[in-house]
Amino acid sequence: MSEVALAKKLYVKTYGCQMNVYDSARMADVLAPLGYVATEGPEDADLVILNTCHIREKAAEKVYSELGRLRALKQARAEAGERMTIAVAGCVAQAEGAEILRRAPQVDLVFGPQTYHRLPELIARAARAQGAGGRAGGVLDIEFPVESKFDHLPEEAAPQGVSAFLSVQEGCDKFCTFCVVPYTRGAEHSRPAAEIVAEAERMVAGGAREITLLGQNVNAYHGAAPPRGVSVGAMGGAASWGLGRLIRRLAEIEGLARLRYTTSHPRDLDDELIAAHAEVPELMPYLHLPVQSGSDRILEAMNRGHRTEDYRRKVARLRAARGDLALSSDFIVGFPGETDRDFADTLALVTEIGFAQAYSFKFSARPGTPAAAMDGQVPEPVKAERLAALQALLAAQQAAFNQAQAGRVLPVLLEARGRKPGQLTGRSPYMQAVHLAAPARYLGQIVAARIDTAQANSLSARLWAAEAGPGAEVAAPSATTPSVTTPSVTTPGVTTPSVKTPSVKTPSVKTGVLA
Ligand code: SF4
Repeated sequence: MSEVALAKKLYVKTYGCQMNVYDSARMADVLAPLGYVATEGPEDADLVILNTCHIREKAAEKVYSELGRLRALKQARAEAGERMTIAVAGCVAQAEGAEILRRAPQVDLVFGPQTYHRLPELIARAARAQGAGGRAGGVLDIEFPVESKFDHLPEEAAPQGVSAFLSVQEGCDKFCTFCVVPYTRGAEHSRPAAEIVAEAERMVAGGAREITLLGQNVNAYHGAAPPRGVSVGAMGGAASWGLGRLIRRLAEIEGLARLRYTTSHPRDLDDELIAAHAEVPELMPYLHLPVQSGSDRILEAMNRGHRTEDYRRKVARLRAARGDLALSSDFIVGFPGETDRDFADTLALVTEIGFAQAYSFKFSARPGTPAAAMDGQVPEPVKAERLAALQALLAAQQAAFNQAQAGRVLPVLLEARGRKPGQLTGRSPYMQAVHLAAPARYLGQIVAARIDTAQANSLSARLWAAEAGPGAEVAAPSATTPSVTTPSVTTPGVTTPSVKTPSVKTPSVKTGVLA
């Protein structure tokens, strides 16, 4: 029989953040030895995996409606004498568990984020259940196993490309009162440093020039130091490494031009990591550092474990370490008990700090979290009005930041072909999407690009020079970035003065995992 005939088709639909993107790729790695190859859609797939996310509103309901569509497909395939296996993975699987098998009996397999290394065994069990003359109740595995899945995953089967994600930490012990992560991803766990270095080296050998280190609370990283006798480059000593140290070691990998990390918690931003921002040129000057609210009263109700003053101090130290650091954040508006005054404090903090990019959401209760049961739930129209005001302010800051790049020459890592013929797209050091006309041979290279115009979410540029350094050190023809004025924003009962955004700050990665 030919290899083609042996191949089974796998379709993974990924919801949510980069950690889920990474997990989906690793699921494909686990399944590759079983003959599974990726297919573009569920129609012809032998195995469909929904890798779900529980962060956003109505996450579970969206999964159930997708499962409704898959039920019809599975039925049609069965009528044609073909078998389709449907699996639900990720955080909704972890949170809903057996409820999925009860509400959606077409599902064969439910497994959580910590058990996908067991996929071959789970699929075999699901096949036995299917072959046993109908349903045997589906297979459920939502344990938090003692052994780490990373000890059991195979090496990556396929390179991720120029810009790669590498999961270094999972789970969270902080228990913010609005967040499901500690319940769906479990306790904080860091991978050993040697394992991460080895994976990063393979990624670079496979063509990666940029690696983004991932974790629900990535700067809480404290992985075991490499054992004696294992090459650790210039780094030695210490039983465990923090993220700053790990970044320094990864920056030594030849061919790796850029490093990023997400998502961070202000409390875990330590001296070593701040120093890395000053001293490691490969570490890009962009940081997603969620603050969530500008009100200390609300931060306490959120159980964030930091105050606004702590955030201000950390930002000041970061900016002292890296003058052009661009900041991004997450915000929740309408948290239970949030008053007009609290919201005004959020606007004031945004105005004071100045963000190059940010994500903002209305509070929505996640079942099982403490905030869901709190008194003082804010009416929807009030939340909507506050969100609109906050987003107007953030959008103005982002536009100002983007416009401030016009005329500068920035190093851009070209990652993909653009939508227009002859166009390539890449990222600036500040995570801005940059479009320019260039021959396809420049894909995977860091070029110097002169920024011509700025749009709300991207920059248009022209090729300035074929090679540029890893960071933002390319000289700009007009080197200064003008300071910009953010328009005043009025909210119910609250007026925020118009303010100046301090010179340069920054922009976007698809985030969504909270820290
Ligand atoms: Fe942990 Fe971040 Fe969730 Fe808080 S918001 S519990 S820090 S993952």
